[in-house]
Amino acid sequence: MTQSPFSPGVAAGRLDDAAYSENFSDLHPALDPHEALVAADRCYFCHDAPCITACPTDIDIPLFIRQIATGTPDAAAKTILSQNIMGGMCARVCPTETLCEEACVREMAEGKPVKIGQLQRYATDHLQEQGIHPFSRAAVTGKTVAVVGAGPAGLSCAHRLAMLGHDVTAYDARAKAGGLNEYGIAAYKTPEGFAQAEVDWLLQIGGITLEHGKALGADVSLDQLKSEFDAVFLGMGLGGVNALNVEGGDKAGVSDAVDFIADLRQASDLGALPVGRDVVVIGGGMTAVDAAVQSKLLGALNVTLAYRRGRDRMNASVFEQDLAASKGVRIMTNVVPKALHGNGAVQEIEFEYVTDDMTGTGETVRIPADQVLRAIGQTLKGDGLPDLEGGKIAVAGAGRTSVTGVWAGGDCASGGDDLTVTAVAEGRDAAMDIHASLMG
Ligand SMILES: Cc1cc2nc3c(=O)[nH]c(=O)nc-3n(C[C@H](O)[C@H](O)[C@H](O)COP(=O)(O)OP(=O)(O)OC[C@H]3O[C@@H](n4cnc5c(N)ncnc54)[C@H](O)[C@@H]3O)c2cc1C
Ligand code: SF4
Repeated sequence: MTQSPFSPGVAAGRLDDAAYSENFSDLHPALDPHEALVAADRCYFCHDAPCITACPTDIDIPLFIRQIATGTPDAAAKTILSQNIMGGMCARVCPTETLCEEACVREMAEGKPVKIGQLQRYATDHLQEQGIHPFSRAAVTGKTVAVVGAGPAGLSCAHRLAMLGHDVTAYDARAKAGGLNEYGIAAYKTPEGFAQAEVDWLLQIGGITLEHGKALGADVSLDQLKSEFDAVFLGMGLGGVNALNVEGGDKAGVSDAVDFIADLRQASDLGALPVGRDVVVIGGGMTAVDAAVQSKLLGALNVTLAYRRGRDRMNASVFEQDLAASKGVRIMTNVVPKALHGNGAVQEIEFEYVTDDMTGTGETVRIPADQVLRAIGQTLKGDGLPDLEGGKIAVAGAGRTSVTGVWAGGDCASGGDDLTVTAVAEGRDAAMDIHASLMG
C-alpha cells in the first residue's frame, strides 16, 4: 500500500488486482440470446404503450422488443438508434426504474417490469459489435454547423446534422470525446472502454470533424463561430462546481467528487488511485452516490454519504440509494457540514442536524474523515453566452437560445432532467430544428 504524502489516511493499492477487477465489473451483465428471448416474451406489445411516453427519446419499445422476439436484433437496434443514437450507452446508464420500466404495465400489475434496458443493450450491442453503422448521409448540403461540447448532447446533434448532409465541426475542451460518458458515469456501468467504442461507432456516419482541446472562451469565441458557421449548437454541459463554504473547507484531502470520478475513469491502474480510509461524500445526487460507491469499491474502510434533507428528497433514485447501501455506504440524512477539522489535512468533519425545512437543531456530530468529496451541484461555466435562466442557457422550443443562429441542449440548457438520455433527445431535436432553419 502506497501512503499519500499529503494526507496520512489516503493511500493507493488498498486491494489486490483481482478485487479491483471484480469490484468494477459490469453492474448488469449482458443478456445471452436465450435470456433475451425469454425477457422479450414477457412484453404485451401494448397498443398505447406507456413505456414509449416515459422514454425521453420516444423509442418505439414494443416494436424493438417484437423485433428481438422474432429473431431480428439488428432491426431492433435500428429502431432504437433511429431515435437515440446513444441507445447503447443509455441502455447501460438510464435510470429505467424511474422511466420506461416504471411505466411498464407489467411493473404496475406484478411489480416486475419487462427488462427494457437490458433488451435495448442486447440489440444495440449485437449491431455495434459487428461494426455495422446502419445510417448513411444524405447528399451534402454545403451548410456548416459548429457544435461546442462532444458529450451526449453535442454528439447526438452532430450525428443527426451529419446524417442530414450538413458538415459539422465539434469543439471539445477535453482530450477525448464523450463528455460525462467518458469522464463521469460510474466505471461499473460502462466498463471495457464502451464510451470510446460508441463514439468511434457514431463517427462512422462521416461529415463530423472533432477538434479536441479547443474550448469556447479560451480558444474560440461565440462571435467567431457565428461568423464562420451557418449555425452553432452549445452542448458544453456544466463544467463548474459549487464551493463548500465552511470552516476548514480548503484543507488537504477535500476535493470535488467529479474530479475524483474523472481520475478514476481515466486510470489505467486502479491500484494506483489514492483513496481515504474514512471517506465522507457531501451531497444527495447521482454524483454523490457514484463517488461514495466507487470509494468503497476502491477499498475505503468507512464511506459515509451525508445529505442535508431526508432520503425521499435525494436526487439519486431509490435504486441508486439501495446500491450504495448494498455496497456498505452509510447514508446520513438531515445533516449539514459545519466545519472540517485537522492539522493541515482533514481528519474529522463536523455536522449539524437540521429539520426537513433546513432549520439547524443545534445538535452536532463529529465523524472521522481523511477524504471529503464535494458533490453539491454543478454550474455552467463561461462568459458571453446567450441569456440565462436559473443559471443555465435559456432555451425555447427545440433548443433556440436568445441569439439567432445559436441553439443549446443537454445539461447546459434550461428545462429537462440532467440525464444522458435527455441530453441525447435535446441534441437530436435541436439538430432537426437547425436543419429546418438552414433549409428554409
Ligand atoms: C458523476 C456523474 C454520474 C452520472 N451518472 C449518470 C447516470 O448513471 N445516468 C444518467 O442518465 N446520467 C448520469 N449523469 C448525468 C449525465 O452524465 C449528463 O446529464 C450528460 O452527460 C449531459 O450531457 P451533455 O452533453 O449535456 O454534457 P456533458 O456530458 O457534460 O458534455 C459536455 C462536453 O462539453 C465539453 N466542454 C465543456 N466546456 C467546454 C467549452 N468551454 N468548450 C468546449 N467544450 C467544452 C466537455 O469537455 C464535455 O465533453 C451523471 C453525471 C455525473 C456528473
Ligand atoms: S408497457 Fe411493458 S408490456 Fe407494454 S409495450 Fe411497454 S414494455 Fe411491453
